[in-house]
Amino acid sequence: MDHFAHAYYLPGSVDSHCHLSIMEQKGLPVDLILQDCVAAQMSHVVDVGISIDDLPNRRARFGTYPIVRFTAGVHPMNAATWDDHGLLEKHVTTGDVVAIGETGLDWYRGRDTADAQVRAFEAQLHLARRLDLPVVIHNRDATDDVYHMVRNITPPAGGVMHCYSASAQWVARFVDLGFSISFAGNVTYKNAAELRDAARVVPSDRILSETDAPYLSPIPARGKPNHPGYVSHTIRVLAEVRGASVDALIEQIAANTRALFRLPPV
Ligand SMILES: [Zn+2]
Repeated sequence: MDHFAHAYYLPGSVDSHCHLSIMEQKGLPVDLILQDCVAAQMSHVVDVGISIDDLPNRRARFGTYPIVRFTAGVHPMNAATWDDHGLLEKHVTTGDVVAIGETGLDWYRGRDTADAQVRAFEAQLHLARRLDLPVVIHNRDATDDVYHMVRNITPPAGGVMHCYSASAQWVARFVDLGFSISFAGNVTYKNAAELRDAARVVPSDRILSETDAPYLSPIPARGKPNHPGYVSHTIRVLAEVRGASVDALIEQIAANTRALFRLPPV
């Protein structure tokens, strides 16, 4: 089947950020994919929330897979739906959630909703602090503003700059605030030299891998719907630019993921 043409599932690998429900909406056979992830002994697949009430459905649909962990949060493009009445918190505290997010700022698509984005982001940073959970951060063309907000309201449990897109110079600043840096399939793209420069300078104990599936498929699957089986292509490129072996990097990323999301060893 087409979706599996370029998939090779590496034992121990982690997809720290994907959207299983959206993959399913795009027609991907998510059960088959998750079964392959399990069969290949991938470590973890983290299913990331984007709206204030999506957690119960995601948990009901994918909660039977021990490999899957959940986050819960309101994506910046859904920021207008943020409510201060504790709806998100109610879902989170009754469950098995490993992080708050994804939240953050998107100035590329959402200048017109800037106020709502800031409000929802601020509230979710406070929620992460209150619940002592890490936070998953979406940043698009908003590095400076994201940095200042997380510096002002820093979750003690840290967090992750998901689908990292800032320059190498910013890496140390986010790392100093306790953040990990996660790379998605775009690090494999031909024109992504700057991103590879950033990947080179991330400290070993702070690097993570993800797909952001169904978006951003790595080369050689670029243009197709993405899924966790493709994270191996991203890891291979990360290993290459960092001068590490693929096996050592997989092990390191798995350990980093467990530390950040406080997951038990598999
Ligand atoms: Zn995402």
